[in-house]
Amino acid sequence: MKKEWDVIVVGAGPGGSVTASKLAMAGVRVLLADKEKFPRDKPCSDLYGPAIKDLLTELGAYEKILEAGCLYRDTVLIAPNFSAIRAQNRGGIVCPRRVGDNILKENAAALGAEVWEECWINDLIIEDGQVRGVKAKYQGEFTELRSKIVIGCDGSHSWVAKRIGAFSDNPEMVYLCGRKYMRGADPELLDLEIHYTEEFVPGFICLSPHPGYGNAVNVGMGIQMSRYHDADLDGEAMIRYFIENSPHGKRLAKAEDISRWMGWRVPSAGQLDKIHDAGVMLVGDAGSFVEPFVLEGIAAAARSGVLAAETAVKALQENDFSEASLSRYEDRVTEVLIPYLLKLQGIANLSQDIDKFNALVDQLKDDPTAVVRLMGA
Ligand SMILES: Cc1cc2nc3c(=O)[nH]c(=O)nc-3n(C[C@H](O)[C@H](O)[C@H](O)COP(=O)(O)OP(=O)(O)OC[C@H]3O[C@@H](n4cnc5c(N)ncnc54)[C@H](O)[C@@H]3O)c2cc1C
Repeated sequence: MKKEWDVIVVGAGPGGSVTASKLAMAGVRVLLADKEKFPRDKPCSDLYGPAIKDLLTELGAYEKILEAGCLYRDTVLIAPNFSAIRAQNRGGIVCPRRVGDNILKENAAALGAEVWEECWINDLIIEDGQVRGVKAKYQGEFTELRSKIVIGCDGSHSWVAKRIGAFSDNPEMVYLCGRKYMRGADPELLDLEIHYTEEFVPGFICLSPHPGYGNAVNVGMGIQMSRYHDADLDGEAMIRYFIENSPHGKRLAKAEDISRWMGWRVPSAGQLDKIHDAGVMLVGDAGSFVEPFVLEGIAAAARSGVLAAETAVKALQENDFSEASLSRYEDRVTEVLIPYLLKLQGIANLSQDIDKFNALVDQLKDDPTAVVRLMGA
């Protein structure tokens, strides 16, 4: 069994698959390892947003995900007073994560990444203060896998982040999000709808239509952890509350559940003090890069993956995997990702003042560029 690569990518979600794809395209010997057997599920509202259309196209994955998912019509943000701003969809796809993430992983393999499923990474190999690979359980055996760089793309509960002392759990920047699938909305939903309701701010109910899957709707919710601690309702009950009390929710009054409820921890706003160390970088949810307010994380995972891959390629060219060399990743993230995350954090903070939030949406509701201006990308 081969046991040495240039780079080991831990986790084959969107962050890991994009990172491994970019590395493979640059000719790097890369292992993409995930503890699950694919296709695997991931609780999500299933939006592969318009911001990564070009990147997914460059990787050759966009059309494949589109074929398996659907282009919803508009993005609609609805304020607590029911004022709405609407923007035409510019290429965002709703596709079940079980399907879309498998396409991205297969695509990484087709581009040249070696992919190991059911490979559980349970420790880092650290020698002389430098990460030099991982310890793993694979095919029933505990083994050591060596590399010059490890990229932790192992999601919200990132074990790699914890191991390098980077994990953070600020309840103002971590959200509880969950979703279930329902069928039978009346009338059928065509738009991606984000409902900000007074009871759950900062947070929302999200409705993602899945017309290709028998008129299924992904009904999701998200709420800031600090608010959730004091909330009267649990996540699933918040969805029920929306269906029973919002005029928009009534369209789902007769819909039936076709999946169980799944909740997850969602870390936002780039809250970590560090996202790299000697021989290691953190990407996607492992780096806490989910966008506050809208809670999109796939695009940020993909973009941080591109930046980490670029840093890794440079480090390999220079044969320098030190903390100083990989700090280029931190610099690029600070330049490219963080300003946008902070802007959205500002809007999430503002949304807690219901009157101000309603006024903002009232002011923007006739502006066709408002969603882009509000949500950035
Ligand atoms: C309910 C909900 C709704 C959401 N809706 C959206 C949305 O519509 N659009 C959007 O853009 N974002 C959404 N998000 C956020 C989005 O799901 C995440 O930001 C995104 O999945 C991050 O991608 P990732 O690759 O960093 O991590 P993940 O997708 O979580 O992938 C991590 C991978 O690492 C693997 N792994 C973990 N530990 C190990 C280990 N020790 N060894 C090996 N493998 C390991 C896991 O099996 C997993 O496959 C939502 C989140 C939730 C909870």
